[in-house]
Parts: sequence; C-alpha cells; structure tokens
Amino acid sequence: MEFDSLRNLLYVVAAILFIFGIKGLTHPRTAVRGNLLGLAGMILAMIVTLVDGDLMPGWYWWVGGIVLGGLIGVVAAKRVQMTAMPELVALFNGFGGIASMLVAGAVFHETIAKAAERMGVSGESDRDLTYWMGQVIADAGMGDPVQVYLATVISGIIGGLTFTGSVLAFVKLREWISGRPMTNPMLKAGNVVALVGSAIFGAVLLVRPDAWWAYWALAACALVGGIFFVLPIGGADMPVVISLLNSYSGLAAAATGFVINNTVLIVSGSLVGASGLILTKIMCVAMNRSLTNVLFGVMAEVEEGPSADEVYAGKVTATTPDEVAMLFDGVQRVCVVPGYGMAVAQAQHTVRDLANLLEAQDVEVIYGIHPVAGRMPGHMNVLLAEADVPYDQLKEMDEVNAMMEQVDICLVIGANDVVNPDARTNPTSPIAGMPIINVDQARTVVVVKRSLSPGFAGIPNPLFAAPNTLMMFGDGKKALVELIRAIKEN
Ligand code: NDP
Repeated sequence: MEFDSLRNLLYVVAAILFIFGIKGLTHPRTAVRGNLLGLAGMILAMIVTLVDGDLMPGWYWWVGGIVLGGLIGVVAAKRVQMTAMPELVALFNGFGGIASMLVAGAVFHETIAKAAERMGVSGESDRDLTYWMGQVIADAGMGDPVQVYLATVISGIIGGLTFTGSVLAFVKLREWISGRPMTNPMLKAGNVVALVGSAIFGAVLLVRPDAWWAYWALAACALVGGIFFVLPIGGADMPVVISLLNSYSGLAAAATGFVINNTVLIVSGSLVGASGLILTKIMCVAMNRSLTNVLFGVMAEVEEGPSADEVYAGKVTATTPDEVAMLFDGVQRVCVVPGYGMAVAQAQHTVRDLANLLEAQDVEVIYGIHPVAGRMPGHMNVLLAEADVPYDQLKEMDEVNAMMEQVDICLVIGANDVVNPDARTNPTSPIAGMPIINVDQARTVVVVKRSLSPGFAGIPNPLFAAPNTLMMFGDGKKALVELIRAIKEN
C-alpha cells in the first residue's frame, strides 16, 4: 500500500477514535475510557504526521513542541482545582486558536516564498506571483488555490478572535478584572469595526493572494475583535462563552486542516466545532436564555419583580441542625439538590458523609442534578464524583422531578435559581420558563445557605418562604458537619 493511502487510513482510524472518545465523555461511567480513546487517536495522528516525509527535516521542532506543550498540559492538569476547570478550558481554546492562526500564516508565507523562488528560476516575466502560488498549491496536492486562500482567511479570523477572547475569558474568571457585565455601546461598536476590518482585509487577500500583509492585518483586527467580543459579557456567563469559543477553536482548526490539506485536522476540528456548539445550545436552553441574550444582552432588570422584603417578610422559617436531625427520624427517601454554594463551600465530601450516615439507617439517598447548577457544565457531577458518590444515585432533572412527590426531605445545598418555583409559576419573572428542579413539591424542604441573598439571576426565591421549607442558615460545609453530629447524637 502506498504511504498516502496508509496515512489516510490511519487518519480515519484516529478520527474514529475521536468520535468514540466524545461518545464516552457523555457519561461519567465511560468518561475515563472516552478520554483514553481520544488520547490514543491523538497519539496515532501525531505519529502518522511525524512519519510523513514533509516534516522529517524539522523533526526537532516537532519534538520540542510536544515536550513543551505536554509539560504545560501536565502541570496545568495536575495543579488546577476542579472549580477552576472553565479557566483551564478557556486557555486551551485560546492556544488552539492561536496555533491555527499561526500555522495558516506560516503555510501562507511558505507558499509565497516557494512561488517567488519558482518565478525567479522560470524566467517567465509575463506570469505574476499569484500564478506561481497557484502552481505551488497544485503541485503540493493542496486542492483549489481559492479554497486554500479562503481557508487561510477563515483560520486567521476565527483563530485570532478565539485567542484573545479566550484569554480575556480566563482573566475574567480569575477575577483579575471585574466580572461585571459592561453595557457601554462603544464596546459593541468596536467589535463590529474590528470584524468588518478583518472581512475587508480577507477580501483583499482573496483578490490579491500575494499580499501577505493582508493576512496579518486581518489577524490583528480579529485579535482586537476577540477583546471587544468578550469584554462586555459578565463573568457568570463565561462558561457559555467558553463553550462557544471552544467551538470556534475547532472551526479554526478545521479551516487550517484545509490549508495544510490534513484530513484528521479537518475531522477533529469539525468534531470540536460541532460538539462545542451543541454544548452551548444545551446550556442556553437550560438557562432559558437565547445565545443572543447571553452574548449581547444582560439579564432582565431585577427591579421589575417583587422585592426580597415583599417575598420573605414574616414568612421564612429558620431552623437548626438539631431540629433538622429530628426530622430525619423514620424518613424513607432523601433527595440532595446541590448548587453553586456547595462548590463554594467545598461541601461535597461532607454531603457524602451525611449520605453514608443516612444509608446506614436504611434511608434511600438520591441526588437531583440540574444541568446548569453551579458555574460550569457538569459542575455538580464532577464535584460529587470527586467525593465518590455512586453515579446511579445522580438523577437528571426530569427523572428526579417525577419522583419529587415521594421525597420525604429535600436537602437543597447552596442552590438557588435552579430550584426557584417562580420559573414555573410567575410568567413575569426574569427566569420564567427556565426548567427547574421542583423541590417545592417534596414533603419537607431544608435549604442550606448563608443568608437570603439571591443567586446568579439576582432575584428573590419564594421557595425560602414556602410553608414546607425550613432555612438552615450557615456555610454549606459547616452546617452539614453540625447536622451529621446532631443525627449521630439523636
Ligand atoms: P445560584 O447562583 O443561583 O445560587 C447559589 C447560592 O449559593 C447563593 O444563593 C448563595 O447564597 C449560596 N452560597 C454561596 N456560598 C455558599 C456557601 N459557602 N455555603 C452555602 N451556600 C452558599 O446557584 P445555582 O447552582 O442554583 O444556579 C446556577 C446559576 O448559574 C443559574 O442561574 C445558571 O443559569 C447560572 N449559570 C450556570 C452556568 C453553568 O454552566 N452551570 C453557566 C453560567 C451561569 P448565600 O450567599 O446566601 O449563601
């Protein structure tokens, strides 16, 4: 078999491994296997690319890149906290974007240099550099020159935008700059100017492919555009933006795949592009917000709804761990609904200790997981998996809602918006229509949080004033430690 056919066959094998890898990542039980399949696909693709004759003279660059990149990856993966995962993903997206932009730029320069060399030796003065660029591209089997130039433009624009956008998302999540949404219209105008600028330079490059400066001008505009794109968006919306930028980094990589005529890069880039877009859509649906609202709008004004005083005055029942411990006497089913506050309090291990204690008393413990509880997709699943909570006890929103009327005690730990019944009952609420976990339908609800402060959406929650709700005020972890002590003493 010729090397070309063998290479393409191995690339297809790598692509299949990527697809099964992504499939594995859809469930916690198969996620590790999915990761390993993806890793195997990537190693295979890298080996095939290295063995490809074109790279052999510069193999030391290749190895140097792997060692440096691998080192950064290992250190980052070892040191990053679970709660800082969106930041890490943001950085990796950014690296993907800048790599696509630089590779497309480097190949473009190489094409121009080779074309200039051939023009020099040919002595045919009636043919211009663009003609020879077309010849270089055709001889390298890279396909139609216009397609290559178009892919170069797309790599430069999306790669540049993804890089600065992702770095800014990282900076916002680290809280190195304010995470508040910025509503200054100049930011949107700046974004439009930068993107129109990059489109104009892109058009110049398509008309005059030998104009190398047009590529760097469009890349510079896209880099500026990325800043204007992310700057107005609030820190709390960053996970949605990051999954969108993840999708962009895939599209930039796929475009670069067309530039360098590499099948596996086209396939893997498209996979990342499509899966990032699907994740973005899932998150928007779960938050009941359109993508346009996340990217260009702000959450509805809070002042329009009832004030906290109107919702809570005289109706909230506070309780203590000792009182709650008594409620657990003789119960059959307890549902734990975690939210962002559990992550803040790092209470997942204490939650597991409490569940162990209850299970030892023949109580059934289940966990109700809302898709956007916390501040990143799968936030609660990751934290509970870290505490070795069995996967089969984690129930998705629809499943747990169907069981809610048979739940004796629903223990809400640091969750707020995702259990706000206003979403179901108040059509004028900013979160009206957002799917929620119907904890108010349990026989008794115990909410663990530090105060009556609102959550991410900034609105009061009538659940806290409901007749079947008891508020156990305190830090999530400390309150649960107290509850465990009280149950043991009971
Ligand atoms: P919320 O942000 O609605 O509420 C979290 C609650 O946790 C707060 O009311 C806070 O109350 C409490 N809390 C904070 N620290 C502690 C602590 N140490 N101990 C106990 N409680 C604490 O969180 P939810 O998980 O309910 O909802 C997530 C929200 O984030 C949704 O609106 C969702 O749309 C949004 N979002 C989610 C994304 C995702 O990918 N998951 C992405 C972007 C946004 P108090 O201060 O009184 O303790």
